[in-house]
Amino acid sequence: MKTRIAMWYAPMDLRLEEKEIGLLQEGEILVNVKAALTCGTDVKIYKRGHPLITPPFPLGHEFSGIVVDVGKNVDKSLIGKKVVTSNVASCHRCFYCKRGLENLCKKHEILYGAFADYIKIPKTIVEQNLQILPEDMDFLTASLVEPLSCALHGVNRANINIGDTVSIIGAGPMGLLMTQLCKLRGATVIMVDKSQPRLDIARQLGADYIINADNVKDVVTEVRNLTPEGKGVDVSIEAVGLPETWEEATKFPRKGGTVILYGGCASGTKISIDTELIHYSELTIKGSFNTTAYEIEVAFNLLRRKEILAENYVSGKFPLEDVERALKMHMKQQGIKYAIIP
Ligand SMILES: [Zn+2]
Ligand SMILES: [Zn+2]
Repeated sequence: MKTRIAMWYAPMDLRLEEKEIGLLQEGEILVNVKAALTCGTDVKIYKRGHPLITPPFPLGHEFSGIVVDVGKNVDKSLIGKKVVTSNVASCHRCFYCKRGLENLCKKHEILYGAFADYIKIPKTIVEQNLQILPEDMDFLTASLVEPLSCALHGVNRANINIGDTVSIIGAGPMGLLMTQLCKLRGATVIMVDKSQPRLDIARQLGADYIINADNVKDVVTEVRNLTPEGKGVDVSIEAVGLPETWEEATKFPRKGGTVILYGGCASGTKISIDTELIHYSELTIKGSFNTTAYEIEVAFNLLRRKEILAENYVSGKFPLEDVERALKMHMKQQGIKYAIIP
């Protein structure tokens, strides 16, 4: 049996190829992809490559579909079921997993290749992160499990309390998902971005205040003016992935506040921070990477309860032949995310 699959060869060079699927190993399942979403990570790889990735490399990792076959020792009744998984699973045995830091696992199973007709899901991911969709859950909504679980990890790292004020830099897919999660946590949300259309979406999704960084003289003052006594936010989240916005994010919090640097910057980049902010203001600065099996489960349940709707995140649908067009539109920030419907 064969599948079409989008393979990345070099920056801006993606090819749709036909490949033999091969036999399923023990514990694996084969899924007929029904929806796969474009993600900033796919766009970054497509555009500039990735230090850890050698071509040819299959793209696409946010997906859902129907189980069409199962390997040895997998319940056969899964065949025909609508499912979603995350694209990662940790080993639960390494140094980091033993210390409860499974998102930092050194022996991660990572799955790519969802821009395809069929995708094989490895055993560890099936065991840890497979979810069966209820009747009323559509494939687009289910495909948001992976990005939502990562956004949830970032928000969980912030320990937000009811009534807190949270600023978020970056109204891209992750910043928007975090906006909704912060609202669920009972926070006031200030969104900062330079794209008015994206800011307007943030507003629709619950941001209490929006600031267009291009239209104000000093973003730091604008953000602080929206907080009690102008002292600054309780939590400042960066969801862009640029050193300059990382630096900016450290200037928003009140004394004792928390900074979550979520957006991944290009490798080799550095930032500088006023040491007084850390010493006298006792800022807590945290990174956020990946997600955990529990957060994947919570993300799935939030989507199942319709707390987060795919219609707010999926700006259009493309057939598999048009993956490149979808990635380019995502890259140009036209819309939020695009769905590939093989
Ligand atoms: Zn993703
Ligand atoms: Zn591990």
